[in-house]
Amino acid sequence: MWDMSEDCIFCAIIDGEIPSRTVYEDDETLAFLDANPLSPGHTLVIPKAHHETLNDLPEDLGAEVFDTLHYLVPAVEDAVGADASNVAFNNGAEAGQEVPHVHGHIIPRFEDDGGAP
Ligand code: 5GP
Ligand code: ZN
Repeated sequence: MWDMSEDCIFCAIIDGEIPSRTVYEDDETLAFLDANPLSPGHTLVIPKAHHETLNDLPEDLGAEVFDTLHYLVPAVEDAVGADASNVAFNNGAEAGQEVPHVHGHIIPRFEDDGGAP
């Protein structure tokens, strides 16, 4: 389990306290470039409200996050000339989720990129 909630780095990004490269923003969601990209264009999509995991996310907000993913996946692929993408959530600390604020990864993939990240 995590030992933090007040010092959430993704909430700090939403508040503009930590700089990030915004990819997309609407009233409920934000998308920005991952600071340590697994491939060019690696983008994170988050709800603006702080919820730790998908299990905590209200259904309507989950739908907003999915809408943003659905809109952005082809847009990000086009932007970087990708052939495909991995779209994934690490859901919970034991599953490798390091930042305890729900986020979906869009990881662009290329024909000759050597396999799964
Ligand atoms: P997780 O392992 O929690 O699913 O993924 C967390 C992601 O957040 C990682 O890919 C990591 O590179 C990214 N990340 C961590 N801190 C920051 C930050 O301060 N800014 C940005 N843009 N990405 C971050
Ligand atoms: Zn947060």
